[in-house]
Amino acid sequence: MNVQSMNKKELIEIIENNKIEPSKELLEAAKSVRDLHYGRKIFARGLIEFTNFCKNDCYYCGIRRSNKNICRYRLSKEEILSCCFEGNRLGFNTFVLQGGEDSYFDDKIMCDIIYNIKSNYPNCAITLSIGEKSKESYEEYKRAGADRYLLRHETADNEHYRKLHPKEMSPENRKKCLYTLRELGYQVGAGIMVGSPYQTAETLAEDLIFMRDLQPHMVGIGPFIPQKDSPFADEKGGTLNLTLTMLALTRLMLPKVLLPATTALGTIDEMGREKGFNAGANVVMPNLSPSGAKHNYTLYDNKICDGDEAAEYVDNLRLRIEKAGYVLDMSRGDSLVE
Ligand code: SAH
Repeated sequence: MNVQSMNKKELIEIIENNKIEPSKELLEAAKSVRDLHYGRKIFARGLIEFTNFCKNDCYYCGIRRSNKNICRYRLSKEEILSCCFEGNRLGFNTFVLQGGEDSYFDDKIMCDIIYNIKSNYPNCAITLSIGEKSKESYEEYKRAGADRYLLRHETADNEHYRKLHPKEMSPENRKKCLYTLRELGYQVGAGIMVGSPYQTAETLAEDLIFMRDLQPHMVGIGPFIPQKDSPFADEKGGTLNLTLTMLALTRLMLPKVLLPATTALGTIDEMGREKGFNAGANVVMPNLSPSGAKHNYTLYDNKICDGDEAAEYVDNLRLRIEKAGYVLDMSRGDSLVE
């Protein structure tokens, strides 16, 4: 099963064959490639959802600007730093700052926050996930101390992309941002939602090919989950099994990639995270956001954010991970991709 050398037609075929359920062979292959490079370690990242204001209007997303049924919030610098303080106390060594594209956080404010986190926790990695910016902005964040950047490409198929986003957003720019980030020396994360409206085996094959070209350090893959106030409220959500298939294929395409078992996967299935590990995933991102924030960071319906999902219960998470046959690793956990 040499996924790395498959052409588009072969990728479509393997996706079709594993659409209903990933084969045992596929899951075993993905697991053994993950074990070969990373062993049984599952890396933890502390997620801080620091703003749900967004200037964009993506049709799938619950924090899109047109959603009036949402309570908007942004955390102050002090609140963000106190999340990091708590995260550090709990043992986290990576902080992921995620948010909508909120113009309040201009480059000066962002850099001040990044610089302060880095000064307080010099051995921690800082990951940003704040959308499409100019090369100059990405450069400044890097200089201030940012190490990594998550920007899912959402779909590599330009036509599909335009069906998921209003016309002011372009697939070309999103892809260009990823290449710029890589060139600037960030560890870069691309990714997709599985089962987004209008997605086909062909667009998924294009996603795998795009990622083979980009060679990202990380890939975020979770099921699409409809959000009740979005234009896609009545669309079907992505399935657990196709998500597992795409996780496994991504692991085989990019053997050294860091691959989270996402919150969305844990949301659609009680054992989603564990099933993700058994399809080649090796990262978890417990939530460090304060309660008021995480309950309003509603990208999709029923997003889990309490219980084992909350960073404060990292000991429960560790037990779950051990029960599944893995070990929780709270180190920086840099990607082995060069
Ligand atoms: N503004 C940042 C962060 C976006 S939210 C950015 O542009 O990158 C992070 C990810 O959540 C998105 O990239 C998208 O893939 C995912 N997401 C948004 N709405 C979703 C939904 N309804 N179901 C599942 N995932 C969703």
